[in-house]
Amino acid sequence: MSDLGRDTVELLQQLIRGEAVNDGAPDGGGEHRQVETLLRYFEGSGLEGVTVEPHPGRTSLVVRIEGTDASAPALALVGHTDVVPVEPAGWSRDPFAAEIVDGVVWGRGAIDMLNLTAAYAAVTRRLAVEGFRPRGDLVFAAVADEENGSRFGVEWLTEHRLDLIDADYVLTESGGAHAGPRPGITVMVGEKGGAGRRLRVTGTPGHGSAPWGARNAAVLAAEAVVRLSRHRAPAVITPQWRDYARALDLDAETTAALVDADRIDDVLPHLGALAGFAHASTHTTVSPNVVRAGEKGNVIPGEATVQLDIRVLPGVSREDVEGQLRDALGDLLEHIEIEGDWFGEATLSPTDTPLFDALGSAVRRVHPGAELLPMLGVGGTDGRFYRRRGIPAYGFGVLSERWDYGTFRRLFHGNDERIDVASLELTVTALDDVVRTFHDPGGSARARRIDGPERTDSRKKATT
Ligand SMILES: [Zn+2]
Repeated sequence: MSDLGRDTVELLQQLIRGEAVNDGAPDGGGEHRQVETLLRYFEGSGLEGVTVEPHPGRTSLVVRIEGTDASAPALALVGHTDVVPVEPAGWSRDPFAAEIVDGVVWGRGAIDMLNLTAAYAAVTRRLAVEGFRPRGDLVFAAVADEENGSRFGVEWLTEHRLDLIDADYVLTESGGAHAGPRPGITVMVGEKGGAGRRLRVTGTPGHGSAPWGARNAAVLAAEAVVRLSRHRAPAVITPQWRDYARALDLDAETTAALVDADRIDDVLPHLGALAGFAHASTHTTVSPNVVRAGEKGNVIPGEATVQLDIRVLPGVSREDVEGQLRDALGDLLEHIEIEGDWFGEATLSPTDTPLFDALGSAVRRVHPGAELLPMLGVGGTDGRFYRRRGIPAYGFGVLSERWDYGTFRRLFHGNDERIDVASLELTVTALDDVVRTFHDPGGSARARRIDGPERTDSRKKATT
């Protein structure tokens, strides 16, 4: 293994042991421990970091290596340091011990995304130690709170300290899995947007001993949940999904159905582990995730709430979401008020950029003949805060051949999260390559800033 690979493995172990579990509570997370680890790691490299702490313990660290040419584009490597909670009973090993067994590192965060955060830090440190001067700025950001919407992380930094994390191009999670038998490495070029809505259901309270004919809010809420989960919204075949479906190399009939909006729902039941992802990649999804009703065992509840997790494809508007909810709920709306108006559009980065080219050449160096497969993520990452300002952000990594996309996805937020050391070596080698290619004074003549009007406007907004 290379020094860079060894560094990445060791740092990943320390970050897993940092146990920065983000349970959604403001005082959770404890990312300050991760920042202390990283500051120790950078000691002696000559790099100086800036830390911010929007809430006690919710610390982020930003390190910037200044470029030699102020007009050259800046590249940011943005890694979150928090992880989601675990259900220890479902794990075969201690989720925070970071054991290495048969060449595999086990632990919460091993693929989401302490692996990448460690690799970004290792690349940044090595470049600094070597005295490498990038043409444009190189930014390493180790950020808090990604797993709960980034209120104390990139969202806060975007609103209050854009100067620290701003860049012209961004790499973040997630990517690097193999799409199918042909060498295709996934790169996340965009992600679905979201809408938060809550159903407030009103019934009539009464005595639990005589339920017949009662307008029980819990029963109405249950009916709403069932209608939402059975509702068939129309499918949309995005260009990213079309390419991905073809790369899977399934039989011709299944592939044809997968890229046909009228037929995809019929093949979903036959797709196995891929089904949920295939559905989410082609539909606006509505998942009723928090349902509350009732206070007391003998009282019919007069009120219930249902919190919905709604994810939208590119081009879907706030009005489309509201229309879909109305269609699904139908006459139940007599008892239901839809609350909330937050809406975040899906985001997508162009792929005709010098950074995307650099990703392609780095991947081909480790997997000869491999092609990049641009994908739309169905979850959320910090990439969206950059894409919304017109800045290309890609989810990038390179995993070993044992990682198909189904396996990769299952371990995200799942039990027994782990990564093989070989993948860490591949990823850090490719990242090092990407940064050098993108920032090499001789090789990046093609690198250019993207200065659309959209970008200039949103920048102004972000700093006021
Ligand atoms: Zn993540």
